[in-house]
Amino acid sequence: MVRVFRDARARVARPARKVESQTVEKGEGEMFIGMREEARDRVRDQRIERVVELVPPEALLGDLPLGAEREQVVVKGRQDTGNVLERVDDRLLVVVGPCSVHDAEAALEYAGRLAGLAGELEDDLLVAMRVYFEKPRTTTGWKGLINDPYLDGSCDVNAGLRMARTLLLQVLDLGLPVGCEFLDPITPQYISDTVSWGAIGARTTESQIHRQLGSGLSMPIGFKNRTDGNVQIAVDAVRAAAASHAFAGIDDAGRPAILHTAGNPDGHVILRGGRGKPNCDPEGVAAALELLRAAGLAERVVIDASHDNSAKDPERQMQAIAAIGEQVGGGAAAIVGVMLESFLVEGRQDLGDGQSLTYGQSITDPCIDWEHTVTALEGLAAAVRTRRG
Ligand code: PEP
Ligand code: MN
Repeated sequence: MVRVFRDARARVARPARKVESQTVEKGEGEMFIGMREEARDRVRDQRIERVVELVPPEALLGDLPLGAEREQVVVKGRQDTGNVLERVDDRLLVVVGPCSVHDAEAALEYAGRLAGLAGELEDDLLVAMRVYFEKPRTTTGWKGLINDPYLDGSCDVNAGLRMARTLLLQVLDLGLPVGCEFLDPITPQYISDTVSWGAIGARTTESQIHRQLGSGLSMPIGFKNRTDGNVQIAVDAVRAAAASHAFAGIDDAGRPAILHTAGNPDGHVILRGGRGKPNCDPEGVAAALELLRAAGLAERVVIDASHDNSAKDPERQMQAIAAIGEQVGGGAAAIVGVMLESFLVEGRQDLGDGQSLTYGQSITDPCIDWEHTVTALEGLAAAVRTRRG
């Protein structure tokens, strides 16, 4: 009994929870300005070690406004994507870029090259750059530039949001629309005005939170099949996101809010393979279209050539792209888009201590390099011309 009593006293004596405030110094990143202490009771926040204030969305949007010219790129990107999904536009949507952005400078160099190539192929391909800042992990690992912009576990989310938004605006300045994965339900308030196409990942497509989020997002949203290859849950997600929902979130000022959504009519399935087995072959595509038909949904798919459609092997990703191109050239109108993981340098590298990274190489999934990307996009453009003919 005495022992229990002493344990309880020890708990009461735990240090107070620290709440840190940060302010954003323009151009300088963030500066720590103060700290207050809150008494910790015995029931709440027993495992919260530190609370850091997050800048409200309207403050970041005020500092880094979208502006009229970039808004045009975003809106046109969304309209064009919608038209490709509806097959009013017979081009192929190609979402291409690194698995994740960890170095804004290399991502911007890549964007410059891609903008040129996208312009050359624009009659046949609607190119959006994959600019992924949030990485869902199977267990643990670096969770993307927004979560940990300095790649060192310091998790300065305020700096991450600022870096992400800055890069997104720079990519739009090149006239290139952007594709993003939305993982955290709060972060879209900070960046979604820059995005023309969004994805919900294989690990979250079955989550109600993410389906609700998709129902309120302003751009077309692709739902990946589950990591085990289950496509039905992605079909269910398209249906769920097409409906209206109400859920708790934040408003532009960062206040808690109940968000009532209109539903998203531009949902679609992304085939990414599962458990090491591809589903980008004609049988996989036909099976997905059958599920969509049974659900009364538009028969269309985007195919991710990476992940389990290529065993995360750049050489096999090129083979998958060629196989998808063959189907498109063969007349497969239901294939409306392709996703590629591509960066300046082929393959991937471990983050390690972050000090000796190869410039332009992924620190998450392996990518094809720039030269292969040119070959891949030219091949897909040729396939679209054949399909059209
Ligand atoms: C990704 O696109 O990098 C990714 C994590 O995909 P998935 O959700 O299909 O695993
Ligand atoms: Mn990836």
